[in-house]
Order: sequence, then C-alpha cells, then structure tokens
Amino acid sequence: MEGNDLPADLDAFLAGHGAEMIGFRRDLHAHPETGYAEHRTTRRVALRLAAAGLRPVILPKGTGLLADIGGPPENPSFAERPVVALRADLDALPMADEKSVPYRSTVPDACHACGHDVHTTVLLGTGLFLASQAEAGLLPGRVRLIFQPAEEIGTGALDVLAAGGLASVGRIFALHCDPRLDVGRLGIRSGPITAACDKIVVRVSGPGGHTARPHLTADLVYALGKIVTELPAMLSRRVDPRSSLSLVWGRVSAGSAPNAIPDDGIAEGTVRCLDDEAWHSAPELIKELTDSVAAAYGVTAELTYQRNVPPTVNEPVSAELFSSAAEGVLGADALTHTPQSLGGEDFAWYLESVPGALARLGTRVPGEPGSYDLHQPSFDVDERAIGVGIRVMAATALTALWDDSTATAAEPPVRESLTHASAPYAGADTRDARYGGDAGPFRGPSPHGQR
Ligand SMILES: [Zn+2]
Ligand SMILES: [Zn+2]
Repeated sequence: MEGNDLPADLDAFLAGHGAEMIGFRRDLHAHPETGYAEHRTTRRVALRLAAAGLRPVILPKGTGLLADIGGPPENPSFAERPVVALRADLDALPMADEKSVPYRSTVPDACHACGHDVHTTVLLGTGLFLASQAEAGLLPGRVRLIFQPAEEIGTGALDVLAAGGLASVGRIFALHCDPRLDVGRLGIRSGPITAACDKIVVRVSGPGGHTARPHLTADLVYALGKIVTELPAMLSRRVDPRSSLSLVWGRVSAGSAPNAIPDDGIAEGTVRCLDDEAWHSAPELIKELTDSVAAAYGVTAELTYQRNVPPTVNEPVSAELFSSAAEGVLGADALTHTPQSLGGEDFAWYLESVPGALARLGTRVPGEPGSYDLHQPSFDVDERAIGVGIRVMAATALTALWDDSTATAAEPPVRESLTHASAPYAGADTRDARYGGDAGPFRGPSPHGQR
C-alpha cells in the first residue's frame, strides 16, 4: 500500500489514543441514551471529531451525525472514486444496568446492553485515525462516518437514508459486538447474517350461527383452523426453502360458547426470513394464500402485515474485503465463519441501497464461559475489542478505497425527502450545503419532520 505501513501506523495511533478511547466508551456506558434521545452522545462524538479538524453534520431530528474524511477537493484525482461508509449505532436499551462496575449506567432504565457504546467508540477512533492518515496524504479517497440513532427501534438507518447519507457511497461496513466470540476475533460470512422478522395479524369474519347447522352458515372456527395450519405448509411449497422463510403463530382466538359458531376470529404470528427477495415477496404471497383458504370456506379474511427490518444480506465482495483487511491487521487466525442469526439489525436498510457487509466483533474475555449475552442487564465486553475494532474498520475502509477505484458510486437512494432542501447531503455540489454553511459544526439543518 504505497509503501506506508498500516499495522505500524495503527499501533502508534492506539498507543497514543487507546486509553482515551476506553475512557470514551466508559463515559458513554455510564450515560446511555435510548433511540432518538442520543443528544449527549451525539454532542460528545461531534465535539471530538471537530477537535480533530472534521466537520460533522447532525441529522435533522437532532441525534445521529455524519462526517466525511478526505477526498475532493483536497485531492481532485480521487473525485471519481466512490465514498466508503462506515456505520455505528448510538442508542442504548430501555432496561436497567445490573453490573457493578465503575462505569455502570447512571441513568435508570437505560443500559448499553447491546454494545452500541463500543460501536460508537470504535467508529470515533477509526475516524480519528483516518483523519490523521488523510493529513499525511495516505487516504486514497473519501470515507463517511455514519453515527446513526435508534437502531434498537429499527428506524435510525431510515433517517440517515432520508438525509441523503448514502449519496456517492459505493460500499458500507459495520461491526456488531459478539459476546460468544473471544476478543481479538472477527466473525464474517457472505450472504444473510441477520433475519427479517415481520408481524402478521389475520382477522376472519363470517355470519356465525348454530353448530348444529354449519352448512347454513360459514364454519368460522374450522376455516380459521385451516388458515393456521395450511398457511405455513403452503409457504413451504411456494418459497425457496433456502430462504428459511417461516411463519409461526403465537396467538389464535375465536368464539365463546361450545355450540355457537362465532362471527369473528383472529390469528397472530411472526414471519422470519433470511432472504431479501423472499422478504420482499412475502406480504403479497401470504395475502394470496390467506384469501384462497378463506374463500374455500366462505369466510372473509383480512390480513395486516407489519414490516420490521429486512434481512441483512452481506454482499460477497464486501465480505471478502472485510476478511482480507482484517487478515492484514489481525492475522488469518483471527477470522472465523459466523452463523446466521434470527435476530434483526437495521443495518439491512443500507444494504437495500448499496453493497456492504456487517461483521461480528469478538468481545468475550478469553477463557471465560459465555456468561454474557446481548440484551442482558449484565452485558459487558473485554475492552480490548475497541482497539481490534479500530484496526479492522480502518483497514477495511482503506482496502475498499483501493479496491473500488474503478467501481461506480451508488446513486443516492430515491427517497422523497432527498429532494427536500434541508436534507444535508442532497445537494449536487455538496461541499458547503453538506456541512451546513456557516451554521457551525453542531447545528444541522432544521428538522423536516418527514417521518
Ligand atoms: Zn440490540
Ligand atoms: Zn445492537
């Protein structure tokens, strides 16, 4: 890489900033903020980036921020090169912190039990390192830091997209803590890594009547039973089994007397899926199947399909870039294949627009049994994971910039709010508009209430 020594540069950076980064994480851990309330966290990150000479932009709702490093106009020869985006999430969970550590949460019913304090700190450190690389003329393009709000709510990524945060981005990368993996290790996979989980409600209605004469009415309980048993079976024959699309009911209810056919009933369940294409086709298919079973028994079925996040599907080239970059700074032994999870992750929204990948950052203290899990009130990490994460993210950004020199940047995602004047990244010549003109680094454009 142009004769510079990335591992040595990272060693020097971490020797100088490692303690600061651990302190930063502990401060965030002690002051957790839940989705869309991340004001203090946003301010702390923005101040630190500004101190390093960067010009962060706060998202319209007031939490979450974007900051670009390097690229044009500092170096016009990189003008055509797509931006590489790195993403972290800022929010904590609405639950009590049950650890006894000096940096335990000071906020009742808020806790960084999903490691987003670690993700934020890793991205901050990566940004500081890359800013120093850019100053030394060693950053071959532009990197965008995305600190998004409200991942646990599942919508923070959509705020970034609405603000034009993916404009000119060619690839995007993110890490998530994994308490089942030793610190120093990185779990990668190509293809689906997290699942979609949608909710469905089927309301069935009919005329009702006497159980002695089902032929004179519509036997609603029988029809509901058919819907409950037939739908999962039919789906398994209509959808590619590799997509792991599964419908499981959690609540079924109808009727009040043994000898009366009720006039309504309800079934509620979840649809989980590991394949993006199957996820997109699921609502229409489930509606078609529900209607066909209902029609056969003379009842009416009304389907409510509630979307959550899509599955996160790692793009193969991006997953490969992640692997080779991590191998270069951690060694080949650090890499491991990670299994699919049926949990959800709103990073998936970005991957609907641009290629990218999510990797799992080991946070377990080596030799300790897997005593912590994500979303547990006692969740904590081996803080050496922060340095590992900074190494991996910095190396991945640089590797992707070099590799993507011929790739084309993604068109900004088509979202209505992109055309709104207040979208910070929406302008064609974006430099000034993007950074809010003279509004100063901490005042983004005015909220535009698009959601
Ligand atoms: Zn979580
Ligand atoms: Zn999380």
